[in-house]
Amino acid sequence: GERTCLAVAEEAVRRARTSKLNAFARVDATATNRKLPDGPLRGVPVAVKDSICIKDETPTAGSRAVGSWKAREDAFAVARLREAGANVIGSTNCDEFGMGSTGETCQRGFTRHPLDLRRAPGGSSSGSAAAVASSIVPLALGSDTGGSIRLPAAWCGVVGVKPTYGRVSRRGLLAYCSSTDCVGVFARSVEDAAFALGLIAGHDDGDATSSQECVPDYLSMLSIPTNDRVASINVEVDDDIESVVAGASNALKADQCDALSPQFLRDCAAAYHVLAAAEAHSNLARYHVNHENPPFGAEVTRRVALGKRLLGERHAEGLYERAVDVRAQARARLDDVLSSVDVLMLPVAPTAAPKLNAPSVITKEARGSLARDLRDDLPRDYANDFLTAFASLAGLPALSVPFGRTSGGLPVGVQVVGKAFDEAAVLRTARRLE
Ligand code: GLN
Repeated sequence: GERTCLAVAEEAVRRARTSKLNAFARVDATATNRKLPDGPLRGVPVAVKDSICIKDETPTAGSRAVGSWKAREDAFAVARLREAGANVIGSTNCDEFGMGSTGETCQRGFTRHPLDLRRAPGGSSSGSAAAVASSIVPLALGSDTGGSIRLPAAWCGVVGVKPTYGRVSRRGLLAYCSSTDCVGVFARSVEDAAFALGLIAGHDDGDATSSQECVPDYLSMLSIPTNDRVASINVEVDDDIESVVAGASNALKADQCDALSPQFLRDCAAAYHVLAAAEAHSNLARYHVNHENPPFGAEVTRRVALGKRLLGERHAEGLYERAVDVRAQARARLDDVLSSVDVLMLPVAPTAAPKLNAPSVITKEARGSLARDLRDDLPRDYANDFLTAFASLAGLPALSVPFGRTSGGLPVGVQVVGKAFDEAAVLRTARRLE
């Protein structure tokens, strides 16, 4: 009833306000006295990454450069959740324009890890993951361009789903790398995530890359008994992560996937960063045309400058073209591997949540051929992207599901990746790990 909805909203708003995590950029006081439509999510408090538009609010994307522009309408995914009765209680902090893996590039300050305030929650959708993990809200929207939903989900111990590219409309999402940007969800369980994904998925005329593919009922597909074939990609990660993921691999009776090497993953990550920098350069130019907006932060400035060099006339040895080739080859290779298995599994990140301000670990991981040429320009936290970027590059659906803990008690996420538009198999596999 009405009164329960308001009590739930009041509690969520109170928790958001008093939380020590700095998860929220803005909490909406009007959430506690709002008329909500009848629907399956009636009264469910929801948080939204601050790069996703909410009507009459400024989506800052963690940047001062956006200025004071206010969105004229809700983003597609936000509108869908509201139509289902969800109560949007505020916007969550993120790395500036989604560029980061720890939450530390946010110009409003970093979000803290819910289990250990000295640690990073993961990024770039840091606040959304932290808000769900700390039970401020049961559901949140994020965006994943190269891992930004899966990584914070893994580090915070919640479920995080990046759908197939084009499955969820990007309308109302501030662009970072438009060819890999995806809107997705954080939830406490696979079931909740499946339900929420079903609400926000589907065609939208307002996004030229939005797919016409029909959306199955993800929730009912969760309970279909299947023998989905799982293949496990072997990678070098921390011992703690390795043993947890080996446990998951056993539980899923996964075969080894020999066709995809760590080198393949690293080349994909390097190609991703080339394309991401180039597209970011183009997408972000608009913020400094007519406005005297404040400058970008250091990481965004660096990437925009890299993108400019990559796209310039005497670009760095054709790296952009090589990255485009790597993307095409990666998609073909993954489609081939996924023609004989249903899903792939691997860790989300090589470590659990690091301390805030942890030193850079690029050199050890930057062994791919593209990465070698890019070494001085790779983002500081590149090592945290190399297990997630390949699915983004190829546009495939992927999620992180919590499975086990490190010896220090930190959450570990198992990543499941599927065929294009087969989120159902990905969700069903994740369910088996809960
Ligand atoms: N960490 C990656 C990057 O900085 C991915 C970010 C994202 O998915 N938005 O580009």
